[in-house]
Amino acid sequence: MPDSVQTSADLRARVAELESERELTLRLAQTDSLTGLVNRGAFTAALCERLEAARAAQARVALFVVDLDRFKHLNDTLGHHAGDLFLAEVGERLRADAAPGELVARLGGDEFAVISPVAEAGPAAPARRAQRLLDLLTQPHAIYGRQVSPGASVGVAVYPDDAPDAGDLQRFADMALYRVKTQGGRRWSAFDAELRAENTRRRTLEAELRRAIPAGEIEPWFQPVVDARDGRIVGVEVLARWRHPEQGLLAPAAFVPMAEELGLIGRIDEAVFEAGCARTAPWVEAGLIETVAFNVSPRDLLDPGFSRKLIGRLGKTALPATALTVEITETFLLQDLALSRRHIERLTAKGVSIALDDFGTGYSNLRALMHLPIQTVKLDRSLICDVAKDGRVAKLVASMLHAARALGVRIVAEGVEEEAQAIFLRSAGCDRMQGYFFARPMPAADMEAQLRVSHAETPRVFDAAPTRRRARA
Ligand code: C2E
Ligand code: CA
Ligand code: CA
Repeated sequence: MPDSVQTSADLRARVAELESERELTLRLAQTDSLTGLVNRGAFTAALCERLEAARAAQARVALFVVDLDRFKHLNDTLGHHAGDLFLAEVGERLRADAAPGELVARLGGDEFAVISPVAEAGPAAPARRAQRLLDLLTQPHAIYGRQVSPGASVGVAVYPDDAPDAGDLQRFADMALYRVKTQGGRRWSAFDAELRAENTRRRTLEAELRRAIPAGEIEPWFQPVVDARDGRIVGVEVLARWRHPEQGLLAPAAFVPMAEELGLIGRIDEAVFEAGCARTAPWVEAGLIETVAFNVSPRDLLDPGFSRKLIGRLGKTALPATALTVEITETFLLQDLALSRRHIERLTAKGVSIALDDFGTGYSNLRALMHLPIQTVKLDRSLICDVAKDGRVAKLVASMLHAARALGVRIVAEGVEEEAQAIFLRSAGCDRMQGYFFARPMPAADMEAQLRVSHAETPRVFDAAPTRRRARA
C-alpha cells in the first residue's frame, strides 16, 4: 500500500505547499483585485499598526482620503469596463507616486487612501502632499481614445495633531473630504477648527439621541390625509419628533440622518410605531380614521427579519392590520428587489398596505407597481408645488394619475399647500391629499380634537382648511 506510506520528505513538501497556499490566500484577502492595492480591511489594520509605531516613535502620520469627483458620470457614459480601467489607472498612478514608507489603499468604489509619514513639523508637508495627489489625479487619461479626467477631492487628517487614534483619524479625514465634496470638489481640505466644532456637536447629539430614545423623548406627531373629493380626514401619517430638553421640538431632518448613520433608526421607528399605534388605535376603532401610515427607514428594510418583527409588534397593539400602511421609498425597492418583494408579500398577506413614498423624486419606476402588491403611491411635494404653475408638471402629474388609476393604485398627493393645487389634483382624479393647506403635523391631543370636530361636522369641500395650528412642522 504505497499510498498510505508517506516519507517525511513528502510531508515537508506538503507542509510547504500549504504554507504558500495560506500566504497566497492571505495576500489575496488583503488585496483589491482591480487595482492590486491594499483593500479596506487590510488598510484599517495597517493604519492601526502605523499609528502604534508612530506613538512609540513620537512621529506624525497623515491620512489622505481621496474620492473621484465625477466617476459615476464616467461609469454611466462610458460603461463599467471603462470605469474599471480608469480605477486601475488611478491605482497605478497612486502606487507609482507613493514615497517610501507610504501605504496606498483602495477603500472601495472610487475611494482611495494614502497613509503617509510626516517628517517635518507644521502643516506644510501634508498640504504639499495633498496638492500633489490632486495634481496627479486631474491629469487626463485616455480610455477608448477619449481623454477623461473626472477630477478628485482629498480630505486630510494628521496624527496626533488632529486625532489620537485610527478611528478618529479616519472619521476626521472623511469629514474634511465630505466638506470639499459638498462644496463642489476638485480641492483638498484639512481637518480644522470648524470641523472639530462640528464633530463635537455631532458627538453631543449622538449621546443625547442614545439617551432620548429610552427616555421617551421621541414622540409621534400626526398629519391628516384627506379624501380629495370632499376634504374629509380619512387617515393620518405618523411623523417622528424629538422633544429635546434644551433645543425644543426637533424635526426628523435634525436627527433621522444621524440615527441612520449610527444604526439607531430602527429603535426610533419602533418607538414611533409603538406610541403611534397606541394613540391611533382608538381613532380607528371609533371610525374617525381608516388608515394610519408609518415611515420606515430603508436601513430597516435591509434586515431580512423586518416584516416578521413588524407583524409581531403590530400584534401587541390594538391597531388592526388592515388600518396599517407602511411607507417605503423607491430607492429601497431598487436596492434589493427580492428582499422588498418578500417583505411586501409578507405584510400584505396580513392585510397591511404598502405605500410607495416620495414618488417622482427618483426613477419613478411604474414597473415596480405592476409587479409588486403596492396599493398606494405618494406623489412627492416637489411635483405638487409646481402643479398649478407649470403646465408641463400639470401634464406629467395628470398622466401619472391616469397610469396609477389604470393600475388600480391609489394616489396620495403630498405637500399640498394651496387651494389651486388641491383643485387641480381633484379634477385630475387624485384620491387623497396631504399638506399644509389642510393641516400641519400636530401632536396627538390636537389631532384627536380635530378628528372629533371634523367627524361631527358635515364635510365641506376644501374650505375646510383648518386655521393654522399652533404646531410647527
Ligand atoms: P415624508 O415621509 O415625505 O413626510 C412628509 C414630510 O413633509 C413631513 O416632514 C411633513 O411635515 C412635510 N410636509 C407635509 N405637508 C407639507 C406641506 O404642505 N409643505 C411642506 N413644505 N412640507 C410638508 P417631516 O415631518 O419633517 O419629516 C421629514 C421626513 O422624515 C419624512 O418625509 C420621512 O422621510 C422622515 N420621517 C419622519 N418620521 C419618520 C419616522 O418615524 N421614521 C423614519 N424612518 N423616518 C421618518
Ligand atoms: Ca412618508
Ligand atoms: Ca414623502
